[in-house]
Amino acid sequence: MSSHAITARGLQDEQLAIDAARVGSEHPQTLVLLTSGVHGVEGFVGSALQQLWLAHYAHELPRGVCVLLLHAVNPFGFAHGRRVNENNVDLNRNALTQFPGPQNVGYPSLNRWLNPSSRVSMFDDFMLRGIWHRLRLGKPALQQAVAGGQYNFPQGLFYGGDRTQESLSIIAGLLADPWLLDAHTVLHIDLHTGLGVRGSYEMLLDYAPHSAEFAAFTRWFDPAHVVSDHAEGATNYVAHGMVTQLIERSFATAHTYSTVIDFGTTTPTRVLKALRAENRLHHYGASNPQRAARIRAELLEAFYPSDGAWRDTIIAHGHDIFMRLAATLKNSLKL
Ligand SMILES: [Zn+2]
Repeated sequence: MSSHAITARGLQDEQLAIDAARVGSEHPQTLVLLTSGVHGVEGFVGSALQQLWLAHYAHELPRGVCVLLLHAVNPFGFAHGRRVNENNVDLNRNALTQFPGPQNVGYPSLNRWLNPSSRVSMFDDFMLRGIWHRLRLGKPALQQAVAGGQYNFPQGLFYGGDRTQESLSIIAGLLADPWLLDAHTVLHIDLHTGLGVRGSYEMLLDYAPHSAEFAAFTRWFDPAHVVSDHAEGATNYVAHGMVTQLIERSFATAHTYSTVIDFGTTTPTRVLKALRAENRLHHYGASNPQRAARIRAELLEAFYPSDGAWRDTIIAHGHDIFMRLAATLKNSLKL
């Protein structure tokens, strides 16, 4: 177990850190990476599932396998209840090899709608304008423009930053360690919330539906939940600079299999509305403290629902995913 402090501080000025815990082989051939909190406020579920794995599955690792848990990749966002980090950067758009990142041609015309430059007040035409943009662009193009990531509006939503963020440098450093040199197979599971059907989950893959990697995931896990970002009519969007891409680069000579598991919480509209309001609050404040508190609570609810039944369902999914993972590891990944 090791702890890696970041420069930014917590709400009470406390130190914030990314924690790394490793279980199993010291010179693994097979490495499983389980990451949480890339999107800070999504870290509650990620953290719970990491604990679930430690409590129930850590003892039965076959030889040659190591599981490395990276807790709170974005400790600032986790502590402050934000999805982004201390520089308003979406870390899952920041893992690029060069900056500025690619142009998102659809974003500028949405900037005023997504990122109003004024205090949050009672009147808000978010929904009305949203309907107009949807009619104008169509749903897939709107989704891509909004959430695909952007590098031009530092105070805007889904901003990917203008340089590699400290958190990602820490992760890259951890993965460059010599004890991982022998790893020839790397399976990376990045835990997220907020996308997909409430109470369900998707294993999102940045691999084409006919790729060997996609086929492997459908063998290892529940195929009903495995989704390619590149599939026709995919619910997701294609993004640049995802942390999964950093992992792929870190193990250039190994077979790397990366997935984002996203647990659905509510509707995309409610998620976007909550993100927009919180971002606006962060940069411009609100007309009164009650409104500010409501906005923060709404963001938390959008990524970490308070409903006990929802939480039970997620834990049940976690067991199912980890049982399949354990079986897969026992069979030496059956590549
Ligand atoms: Zn996320």
